Amino acid sequence: MAIQIFNSLSRQKELFKPIEEGKVRMYVCGPTVYNYIHIGNARPVIAYDTVRRYLTYRGYEVDYVSNFTDVDDKIIKVAHELGEEVSELTERFIAAYFEDITALGAEKANAHPRVTDHMDEIIEFIAVLIEKEYAYVSEGDVYYRTRKFKNYGQLSHQSVDDLKIGARIEAGTKKEDALDFALWKAAKPGEISWQAPWGEGRPGWHIECSVMVHSHFGDTIDIHAGGQDLKFPHHENEIAQSEAFTDKKFSNYWMHNGYINIDNEKMSKSLGNFILVHDIIQQIDPQVLRFFMLSVHYRNPINFAQDLVEAAANSLDRLRTSHKNLEHRLTATTNLVAVDPAELAIIEEARAYFIESMDDDFNTANAISALFNISTAANKYLNEANTNAEVLTAYKTALEELMLVLGLQLAQDEDLLDEEIDALIAERQQARKDRDFARSDEIRDLLKAQNIILEDTRQGVRWKRG
Ligand SMILES: [Zn+2]
Repeated sequence: MAIQIFNSLSRQKELFKPIEEGKVRMYVCGPTVYNYIHIGNARPVIAYDTVRRYLTYRGYEVDYVSNFTDVDDKIIKVAHELGEEVSELTERFIAAYFEDITALGAEKANAHPRVTDHMDEIIEFIAVLIEKEYAYVSEGDVYYRTRKFKNYGQLSHQSVDDLKIGARIEAGTKKEDALDFALWKAAKPGEISWQAPWGEGRPGWHIECSVMVHSHFGDTIDIHAGGQDLKFPHHENEIAQSEAFTDKKFSNYWMHNGYINIDNEKMSKSLGNFILVHDIIQQIDPQVLRFFMLSVHYRNPINFAQDLVEAAANSLDRLRTSHKNLEHRLTATTNLVAVDPAELAIIEEARAYFIESMDDDFNTANAISALFNISTAANKYLNEANTNAEVLTAYKTALEELMLVLGLQLAQDEDLLDEEIDALIAERQQARKDRDFARSDEIRDLLKAQNIILEDTRQGVRWKRG
């Protein structure tokens, strides 16, 4: 096995060697649950789900953990605005998160630990850092003594002195040094809080990931992953906390995915181009969204633009059509010709190229081109008058196998038959006459989901497939 991973620590591709033969310990920073995830959050979900699928395909047993930040300033603020309990709000958006990632074809992690379930461990972890003098209490807050950690800046490749220049001096700070960061925040009146030996409060954001990793995996993991925006300070701080705690290396490989732009602009609420997965998958097949994201290497930026998404939809459709045609021919064919070894060789070569591409730092863009090599050759073969079932099956199986590695589904919902559509339209007309608008809307949505376009004409309602 020769998988190369671009490691943000060394800024180069390295041969992947897990701590334990055949096993991978992988941690991915998860969402703060006070809203639906946006498509920027969907990227790491899809990218690292694909990494996990590929490592599994290559024979590794992957233990994959991703956390939920279920208490923080934003959560408290939104819960307060909505007049909801913090736990009600977070439960709602954890459920929504699972719905969205399932639609995107991502599997649940082996564990999804939550901050509020790990409070005792977080407090113990901080107590050890205080004892080791890597942290100090200041008026009920606890801060990490950044300068004491000698390797600070190793992941983001910055020196502590460079950081010092950029660090803001906050008025009335309780910190010894501007670079220090909060491990624990003293409770404000009326806020949700927990009792620690140094006082009431709640954890800072960075500490949770160090604690989740340690409690699930122990001292060192193989892969830690997340969005590029998390590299500094979040991941840098995780390293500082964990390595001060264990005196061991925290993670051997660090993976960071690139940003998403919308029509070449940064996504932001103020620009009004903030896209939630929950909304966009009403308009775009979530599998198309997944295919679109995988068509760009995970480290490169992605530009989310309508024409590019449409192109992705067409490409995915081509793969699905090839597969459908192979299936169809297999129901009809008899072995009119012998197996052509050249055809099988094309498939093997494409499979080898797929693996070579994915071995090369999970190059899904090239892996997708391997899928097209298969589908193009399959289409050519299907054009021949006489075909062989073994060859057809080999094409079909290769498409199924490799698309599954990328989490792409071939089978779509069964299309409605023409007479079923006619019957539904008639039923809708009747429902409208009967003023049963609930049923009439339900049928409209059902037809819309099947891409059926309705037109009102003098002769009545006509329809076509979109
Ligand atoms: Zn994290």
